[in-house]
Amino acid sequence: MSEASRQIPAARYAERLAACREAVTARNYAALLIGVGPDLRYLTGFVGEPMERLTLLVIPSVGPAWFVVPQLEASKAGATPLVRAGGAEVVAFQETEDAAARVANLLSGARLDAGNAAWEPIGLSDRLWAMHVLQIQAALPGRKFEPASAVMRDLRQVKDADEARLLRLAATTADRTVDAIASGRLIGRTEAEVGREIRTRLIDEGHDLADFAIVGSGPNGASPHHDASERRIQAGEPVVLDLGGTLAGYLSDTTRTVWVAGEDGIGPEAEFRRVYDLVRDAQAEATAAVRPGVPAQEVDAAARSVIAAAGYGEYFTHRTGHGIGLEVHEDPYIVEGNDAPLQPGMAFSVEPGVYLPGRWGVRLENIVMCTEAGSEVLNQSSLDLRVVRG
Ligand code: ZN
Ligand code: ZN
Ligand code: ZN
Repeated sequence: MSEASRQIPAARYAERLAACREAVTARNYAALLIGVGPDLRYLTGFVGEPMERLTLLVIPSVGPAWFVVPQLEASKAGATPLVRAGGAEVVAFQETEDAAARVANLLSGARLDAGNAAWEPIGLSDRLWAMHVLQIQAALPGRKFEPASAVMRDLRQVKDADEARLLRLAATTADRTVDAIASGRLIGRTEAEVGREIRTRLIDEGHDLADFAIVGSGPNGASPHHDASERRIQAGEPVVLDLGGTLAGYLSDTTRTVWVAGEDGIGPEAEFRRVYDLVRDAQAEATAAVRPGVPAQEVDAAARSVIAAAGYGEYFTHRTGHGIGLEVHEDPYIVEGNDAPLQPGMAFSVEPGVYLPGRWGVRLENIVMCTEAGSEVLNQSSLDLRVVRG
């Protein structure tokens, strides 16, 4: 795939910042302070790890945005698409300087205290380290702080066209990986060995990072977040394969459950086949429930009612899904209690499962995007039960 297809144009970042500023104003925040993490990547294109030196995008409700960075990161910040698009100005501080005081100075220069703006809160990004939060609070005495997620959640959970394209690309890349693994060989190998092959393939197929590789054979499949152990996969048992990686910042996440029959063709046993069909039905029903305006919890209920009606309700022990984007778990959560209506552009997993303790588990997971017309399933790998010989 071409490099260009993995890029997000600079104009898109300027657009996101404009939408963010609008939301800041609508919520009556004085400013938004965004530290290193997915919110910062979303707004600027800056990729990095949080560290003891403060790195902060300062978005006041009025005036220009500043990208406050340590001097040694000034050129990296200057190269981000948002800065190149003229959306923010880089403000570099020296090693001996008090970065939080510098931020406070910028904000007071922005005249946030005109009128009754002093009462307006400042939104702090959820991922800002406590050491930075405390420094910022000390530098801005009397100011009220609230979570920036109140603004960022609404922006990030509705994907723009570039994000949809990258999520699609990540999903098909994961599909190729799961198809390769599901065709074997599995028998006699440890879960950890298969997990290592998954990670290698995730990268070879086009991810930048291999984030997770769950291999749950036999009884281990009954633990939804089982990792990959030294247990050897045997003939006559199922294996839950749940894998995902990061492509240009965006996550993939897909699960298929296969039956390992061996050369003698052991199974699949009758109850496994029944439960597999049930989970597949639940997955289909939940996917069919996705369309704009439907409360997120109804998608969960659609999956749960199928499984409960067959008497396996108590074995479906987790929510039906989670939003996905720059993070593997983000809003919207597909869970009872979330009555927020789905909107076109929301992307989330639909991953019902049945887990029989001590025996095995079945989970099937696709990433689904809500569209104007209903939904688009991003994963194309088959949901038919695969019986592996070797
Ligand atoms: Zn999970
Ligand atoms: Zn998963
Ligand atoms: Zn998932």
